[in-house]
Amino acid sequence: MGYLSEITYKTLYLHKVQPMKKCKQCHHNKELSEYNKRNSTSDGHHYYCKDCVRKDLTKRARTPEGLATRMYGRQKARSINRGHPAPDYTLVEFRSWLLSQPNFTELHTNWKQSGYDMELAPSCNRLNNSIHYTMSNIELITKHQNDLKS
Ligand SMILES: [Zn+2]
Repeated sequence: MGYLSEITYKTLYLHKVQPMKKCKQCHHNKELSEYNKRNSTSDGHHYYCKDCVRKDLTKRARTPEGLATRMYGRQKARSINRGHPAPDYTLVEFRSWLLSQPNFTELHTNWKQSGYDMELAPSCNRLNNSIHYTMSNIELITKHQNDLKS
């Protein structure tokens, strides 16, 4: 291959157009690199583009169920960090505890109305800091109130 043709080849390679794919969520045509890889699909990529997947995850994390899942995950991680036993309840038990708290609706509504300000996110405080997460040792407050306590 001569010098010129090599440059031509490189130019063509650099400008090579990636295969396009239509997102099943936003219906925009985007380059394949805008999709997460996924083994189970025919083209090896997700049906939704990365932007839509991200928005979807954020939306789900803000629902009461999504919030419960995230809070529970954090409690497990914090317990490990502190060298404490894991929470003495399951995710399902925690979720029904959370939803049954008298102040849950108010906290969740305020959080939503604030545009999901992290300071106002519902948070779990341990009443007795020297023991781990147990059903009788947790109360529901905002993250801001919790930060002030610790
Ligand atoms: Zn999309």
